[in-house]
Amino acid sequence: MGAGMVSYRPGRNGFATGGDMGREQTEVLFSEETIRVRVGELARQISSDYSRYGEILLVGILRGCYIFLADLSRRLTIPGRIDFVALSSYESGTAAERPVRLVMDLRTDIAGKHVLIVEDIVDTGATLDFLLPVLRRRKPASLKTCAFLRKPSRLLKELTVDYVGFDIPDVWVVGYGLDYMGRYRALSDIGIIATPPAAR
Ligand code: 5GP
Ligand code: MG
Repeated sequence: MGAGMVSYRPGRNGFATGGDMGREQTEVLFSEETIRVRVGELARQISSDYSRYGEILLVGILRGCYIFLADLSRRLTIPGRIDFVALSSYESGTAAERPVRLVMDLRTDIAGKHVLIVEDIVDTGATLDFLLPVLRRRKPASLKTCAFLRKPSRLLKELTVDYVGFDIPDVWVVGYGLDYMGRYRALSDIGIIATPPAAR
């Protein structure tokens, strides 16, 4: 592996290299430090915007959000609660033919609450386009969206994301919660995978 490549050292990246792990080469797109700085900026912005509301309810979309949500929530300076939904995503078929389904609902009644949806990455926008009306029907006091990454060139829907960490080109990214066939979620950096998934 040359400079700028991710090295899969045990400990630092959570899971040790073993078996066929680490065969797909990844190139670092955002380093741990770059991510840390940007998450801090997002947390400051969100804390300032929500300071007059009293309490925020972060709704994470599993599974990709888990690291971003953990980092973001710990750097907010406003009171808040956390809940999760799980949606079917790239399980089968291409983005166009794959209907989004709610596979795990919230436990919280969001009526009257200030809800911020936290997503790892907005790609075609199908996930948020599905979830927003579902949650809006439950009458939250406000409903906004935050995505750590967004691929503007892939967007199929007219969609406003209120808080975005970084806009990226049409590449498959892994690490910081994001996977490639279930792997690499625990990488500390965000990397571009050389062999993107076929089913898109
Ligand atoms: P959308 O519904 O916007 O097309 O896709 C959103 C979901 O697709 C994301 O929450 C994420 O789970 C998955 N996704 C899209 N692009 C990528 C990517 O580059 N890497 C990974 N690991 N997941 C992605
Ligand atoms: Mg996701």
